[in-house]
Amino acid sequence: MEGLLSIIIPSYNEGLLIDNTANVVVDIMTEHKIPYEILFVDDGSKDDTWNRIQAASKKHEHVRGVHFSRNFGKESAITAGLTYAKGDCCVVMDCDLQHPPIKIVEMYKLWQEGYEVVEAVKEDRGEESGIHRFMANTFYKIISKLTNIDMMNASDFKLLDRKVMLVLLNMKEKNSFFRALSSWVGFKTTQIPFRVAEREAGESKWSTKSLIKYAILNITSFSSAPMQIVTICGFIMLLISVVFGINSIVQYVNGTALGGFTTVILLQLFSSSIIMICLGIIGYYIAQIYDEIKGRPKFIVSEEC
Ligand code: UDP
Ligand code: MG
Repeated sequence: MEGLLSIIIPSYNEGLLIDNTANVVVDIMTEHKIPYEILFVDDGSKDDTWNRIQAASKKHEHVRGVHFSRNFGKESAITAGLTYAKGDCCVVMDCDLQHPPIKIVEMYKLWQEGYEVVEAVKEDRGEESGIHRFMANTFYKIISKLTNIDMMNASDFKLLDRKVMLVLLNMKEKNSFFRALSSWVGFKTTQIPFRVAEREAGESKWSTKSLIKYAILNITSFSSAPMQIVTICGFIMLLISVVFGINSIVQYVNGTALGGFTTVILLQLFSSSIIMICLGIIGYYIAQIYDEIKGRPKFIVSEEC
């Protein structure tokens, strides 16, 4: 089967890289005679990314682009890519060539053999700082446990059959997590390993703050376990209060009461902090419900080429 392959490339402030990425991918596709289109999704970049995409689209017949009215985030850029892609299957990859494009050939072959999802799994995490690695590992451990999907070393570098693309597009949720959802849907899946290359140029768009936000959002959008943990904390607190309560009654009976001032203060602080954490977690869920219910679009396209 010689189906059309759409290569979706979310790009945010990647002006330095567009030309090179387009050239590299075009060369590989031409060499291996794969029918393809490249779809750059400019996620509201502040540099000259959009001009570069337009230039690449003029230069190469099969390069297209859509431009967002502002920055909506990588997840939204992927959704836009799935929406605008015309292919019988698609591959999502990063603009910085950290996802080696040569792997697309292998992924396409597996698709031709009948696989509907081909996941590229990180063999190692490339050049990352120690703290980044630690946080990523913790996040993926939590999310793998909560979702029952092995997310360790998962990436957004995936091939999806048209069928799977449509299933993902028909999901109503706004806070999607592509990496997890594309496994969650099932289908005939296989994996190939890849080594994370170094970023070609520019720098990573993720700050520590945005990574923490992203982690919390994805954990809460995929599972209600944090709320259960809150409930368990509540029960533990209750138990502690019972023990302390009995203790103070005993002290009262023995006539040694009044000494427990420190205990009261400690308990007070402890319980109010637990309550605050709980309110925070509940608030997060409510914020998410609010976000979903507003029904706003995940992205706004202002230009196409
Ligand atoms: N990206 C995006 N929107 C954003 C942030 C990033 O489309 O708000 C794109 C970015 O251009 C790149 C990919 O997502 O193609 C991965 O980003 P980056 O390389 O900064 O992340 P890292 O590799 O450090 O995880
Ligand atoms: Mg990168």
